[in-house]
Amino acid sequence: MIVIKKSCQSDPSGRRLESTLRDLGLRPHVVPGHDLIVLECTANERLLGTLRGCCDFEQVKIVPANYALCSRQYQAGDTVVNVRGVRVGGGYLAVIAGPCSIESEARLAEVGRRVRAAGANILRGGAFKPRSCPYSFQGLGTDGLKILRSVGEELGMPTVTEVMDPRQVELVARCADLVQVGARNMQNFDLLKEVGRAGKPALLKRGMGATVKDLLTSAEYVLAHGNPHVILCERGVRSFEDSTRNMLDLAAVPNVQGLSHLPIIVDPSHATGRPDLIPAMALAAVAARADGIHIEVHQDPASALSDGPQALLPEQFEDLMQEVFLLADVLDRFIDPCPDTSA
Ligand code: PEP
Ligand code: MN
Repeated sequence: MIVIKKSCQSDPSGRRLESTLRDLGLRPHVVPGHDLIVLECTANERLLGTLRGCCDFEQVKIVPANYALCSRQYQAGDTVVNVRGVRVGGGYLAVIAGPCSIESEARLAEVGRRVRAAGANILRGGAFKPRSCPYSFQGLGTDGLKILRSVGEELGMPTVTEVMDPRQVELVARCADLVQVGARNMQNFDLLKEVGRAGKPALLKRGMGATVKDLLTSAEYVLAHGNPHVILCERGVRSFEDSTRNMLDLAAVPNVQGLSHLPIIVDPSHATGRPDLIPAMALAAVAARADGIHIEVHQDPASALSDGPQALLPEQFEDLMQEVFLLADVLDRFIDPCPDTSA
C-alpha cells in the first residue's frame, strides 16, 4: 500500500493528484482532516514514476497492506495519545482501573478515590455492557454515563467506557475521555468508522479470536476515518487452557510495538479472570514494556453485578501499584498523575 501527502505546492488542494490516481483505475482514500491519501495497490515502478511526476515524492511512503497508517513504516516514532492530560505511549504508562460495571454513583466514587490515590490515572467503568447471557445485568446505560462523567469530574480523573453501537458513539464520546471498543466488537467495522469520526481518543481491545495483524487492521479503520489517537489493548485470546479465562499473549506487546507506532496496554483482568494471577501478569506487562495496564477493581467483588470473580480489592490494587511504580522507575517509564491534582 502507499500513503501520500495529498497537497503539494503545484497542487495545493490535491485534486489533480486524486484525479490522476482515479484515471489509473485506483481508489484513493482521503483521510478526513489529515491531508493524506491511502492507496490499496502494489508499489510498482510505473506507478511510482507517475507519482514522481505529480506530487512531492518525498511525501510518498510505501507501507504494509491493511495497516498502512498504523505501521512503523508510515511513522517511525511512537504515538503518544493524550487522554485529557494523561499521556499514553512513548514511555508514558496508562494505569486504567475501576469496576467492570458502573453500579451506583457512591460505589464508583469510592473505588475511584481509592484507585486514584494508589496511582491510577484513568477511571474505567462500563455503562453499556456486552454480556454473553441476555439475562445478565446489561449496564445502567445513559444513567451510567452520567455517573461516570460526574465522578470523573469530581475526582479530576479522565474516564474510559465501552461503546457497543455506532449510534451511541457521539453520546459516549461526550461523556468519556477515552472511548472503548471491546473485544467482541473489534471487527464491528461500522462502529470503528464512527469511532474514527468521534474526535476522542479510542481504546481498541483485541478480539478473543483475532491475530495481532487483525487488531492492527481494525485500528486502521479508526485512523482511516480521521482519528489517529488509538490505544491498543491485549486482553487474552481463547485457547484450550481452561484454568484461566483467556490466554494472555504477552508477546503481543513487543510484537505490536515492532509493527506499529500505536501504544499497546495489557488487561490482565479479562486475560486471566483470576485475582491471584492479575498482579503477576500486570507486572510482567510493565516489564515487557507495555504502555499501560487495565485492571478491574471492586470494593465488594461478591456483590458486583459483572465480573466480580476477577476484581481486585482496592487494597490489592494498592499493593500492586507500589510494585508497578518501582518497576516503572527501574525501566525509566513514567506514570502521569491525574491532571487535576486538587481533588
Ligand atoms: C470490559 O472491559 O469490561 C470488557 C468487557 O472487556 P473485553 O471486551 O476485553 O471482554
Ligand atoms: Mn469486565
